[in-house]
Formats: sequence, structure tokens, C-alpha cells
Amino acid sequence: MATALAPQNLGDTARTAMDPDEERAFLDAIDKWVQKEVRPVVMHHDHGDIWPAELVAQMQEMGLFGATIGQEYGGLGLPAVTYAKIVAHIASYWMAITGIFNSHLIMACAVERFGTPLQKAKWLPKFASGEIRGGLALTEPNAGTDLQAIRTTAVRDGDEYVINGTKTWISNGINGSCFALLVKTDPKADPRYKGMSLMIAPKGPGFTTGKKFDKLGYHAIDSAELIFEDYRIPADNLIGGVEGQGFFQATGGLELGRINVAARGVGLAEGSLRLATEYAQMRQTMGKPIAEHQAIQLYLGEMVTRARAARLLTFDAAETYDRGERCDMQAGMAKYFASEAAVENSQTAMRIFGGYSYSKEYEIERFYRDSMLMCIGEGTNEMQRMIVAKQWLKEHRI
Ligand SMILES: Cc1cc2nc3c(=O)[nH]c(=O)nc-3n(C[C@H](O)[C@H](O)[C@H](O)COP(=O)(O)OP(=O)(O)OC[C@H]3O[C@@H](n4cnc5c(N)ncnc54)[C@H](O)[C@@H]3O)c2cc1C
Repeated sequence: MATALAPQNLGDTARTAMDPDEERAFLDAIDKWVQKEVRPVVMHHDHGDIWPAELVAQMQEMGLFGATIGQEYGGLGLPAVTYAKIVAHIASYWMAITGIFNSHLIMACAVERFGTPLQKAKWLPKFASGEIRGGLALTEPNAGTDLQAIRTTAVRDGDEYVINGTKTWISNGINGSCFALLVKTDPKADPRYKGMSLMIAPKGPGFTTGKKFDKLGYHAIDSAELIFEDYRIPADNLIGGVEGQGFFQATGGLELGRINVAARGVGLAEGSLRLATEYAQMRQTMGKPIAEHQAIQLYLGEMVTRARAARLLTFDAAETYDRGERCDMQAGMAKYFASEAAVENSQTAMRIFGGYSYSKEYEIERFYRDSMLMCIGEGTNEMQRMIVAKQWLKEHRI
């Protein structure tokens, strides 16, 4: 398990907090974009599971594909706290589109934290501008939680690696063009993590994609299989230039990923609350708005509290990350709590909407379909609780 092992170099994650006025202006611009461009088209893209090409171009223009990448590489260099606020706000209207830039930024984070100076100079400016977009390719058909069980191999052949294997469930798999790819460079290594490496893998001969998965929710963003058959990349694409570091590099990047999923959970929990609050004041039964019935007030009271707690835990994790401190415990708590809050708030909102919650004419059913993914992605909630408990016990040995 990731937490039991000491990474050799966690890379620097320290970032200074943004000036409050500058942050407010930035968040206002995001809100204007969400209200003007995103809200009118959500249902169309979500119901049809259609890739939002125009929104992606707008996100590129706003710099979101470089949100957390350092300014020296052309990114916005945002601290995790500001990034989490942006993600939570967008996700409170449509969670799925945040996945398009988040998975991409986790790939970039791996290169920025662990890459060689040459790799950073070559790849980060193109990641930051969105000219090259992609994601993180870890999961395989036989290995999700147990990442060390992956079977994709990279065999050194002169100045190249030859890669064979299959990844599955990869976000941006079809529309992305480059992935941080976890492979085995030494399949016989014991312990297994010592044989794992992370590669920068742009699409090319030998790298094909399977069909787009038909999913319950998280529509519009593509999830797909990636297939590697004698796929060759330059040895220079080995992140950090040293074999055997991939497991730490991949799981180190997941801290930011977990803060992002927590922020998406906050957005889903707050969005469900917003929809339920509006509906409860409009819908009348027994001659008064249902918001005046005690049963509905109990629901709303729970929802407000959960959303607020999720927000506080998420910003606590983001602040720890920005201080450059290890934050697997804080990120684990935030990811676990905020994703469960998303599920519970969306389900409670479904109850408040009554029969109409089941209609696709209302938005709340999307929150219900999208929220469960937050409990699974970037490390399942079972694993988050174990990570939190192990760290807690380590700090409280008797
Ligand atoms: C929509 C979507 C998008 C995704 N995007 C990506 C992506 O971009 N890149 C990527 O690499 N992956 C991606 N994934 C894969 C995702 O990360 C995995 O599904 C997740 O890690 C869980 O792995 P699994 O599905 O193999 O479940 P399993 O590992 O088989 O787990 C099944 C159950 O067993 C539990 N479990 C497993 N091992 C233990 C243990 N040791 N102790 C206690 N409980 C345990 C799990 O918590 C879970 O409840 C995506 C998945 C989905 C659904």
C-alpha cells in the first residue's frame, strides 16, 4: 500500500496563497463562464453523452489545462486551494467536465514533481497550453486498487522502451493524446513496486484505443481502454530518468487528484443542496411550501451541514498540500467525506424532489448518477479509510 512506503522524492508542492482580490476576480470569471456557456448545454451533452468540444476550447482559452502547472512553464501556477474552489464551483453545476482537465493535470503534476529538467521543459508548456491534453493511465482489467498487480511491461531496447499491455477505464482515453502510463520495467521485482515505472506516452504507432465505455453517469467525458502492442517510446520518456520510481510517482500525484475529487464531491453536495433548496420553496403540499414541513427541514439541515463539513475538510487538505507538507491523511479524509456527502446529498435531494427526481427533465437525477463515481475514483473510499487509519495509528502509537 502507498502509505506504508517512503517515497524517495515527493517533489515540491508548496505554493503561496493567491491574493484574495485576484482570486475573487478569477472565481467570478469562472462563474460567468459557467452561467453563460456551461449551464445552457449541460443537459444536451449529458443526456447524449456528447464530448463538449466547444467548452473544451473555452477551458483551453481560460488556461484551465495549465491551472496547477507552474508559471515558468506557461501555466497559471494556482495553489491547490484556489484550484479546489474552481473545481467545486464548476462541479456544483456539472461535475463531469472537471474530469477533462483534472486527469490531464494529474499527468502534468507527475512530470512537474518528478520529471527531469529536460522533460519539464519539453512537455509542461504544451500541457499548460492544452496543445497536448491527456490523463493518467494506471488501471488495468486485473488491477485497480492493487496497482502493483499491473501487467503492462516496458522492455528497454537501445534508446527506446517497447511497451505491451492494456489499460482500462482511462479518462480522456479517446480525446486525449498523451498519458502518464504506469508500467512494469522489472516484472519480477520483489517487492513488486520496485519494478514499476511511469512513462510519458503520446499516441503513436502501436498505441490504440478501444471503444468509449457506456456509463451510468460521468457522461460527455470519454472513458476507454488503451491498448499497447509493441509500442515504442524514447527512453527519455521515463519520468525522472530512473526506473523503479513509478509507483511513488503515480500515487504521489494522486494526492492532488484526491483533493480534486474531494472538491468535485463538495460541488456535487452543494449543487444538490442548491437544487433542493429552490424546489422545496416552490413545491406546495397541504397549502404550504414543502420547505415548511419539518421532515423536509430535517433533510435540508443535514444537507447544509454535510456540504459545509466537506468544504472545510477539502480546503484543509488543499492548504496542507500548498504548504508543501505530506497530506495523504488530510486528502484521504477529504476525499472520503466529501464523496460520501455528494452521494448522500444527491439522494436526499432526490427524496425532496419526490416523483420529479425520477424525470430527466430535472437536473437532480444527474447529480445522483454522477456522485457515486466520487467514492470509487482516485482510490476507493475503503482504501481512503484504511490510509487515514494507518496514518492515525502511526501518529498515536502507545
Ligand atoms: C468513470 C471512471 C473513470 C476512471 N478513470 C480512470 C483513469 O483516468 N485512470 C485510471 O488509471 N483509472 C481510472 N478509473 C479506474 C478506477 O481508478 C478504479 O476503478 C478504482 O481504482 C477501483 O479499482 P477496481 O475497479 O479494479 O476495483 P477493485 O480494486 O477490484 O476493488 C473492488 C472492491 O474491493 C475493495 N478492495 C480492493 N482491495 C482492497 C483491500 N486491499 N482492502 C479493502 N478493500 C479492498 C475496493 O475498495 C472495492 O470496494 C476510472 C474508473 C471509472 C469508473
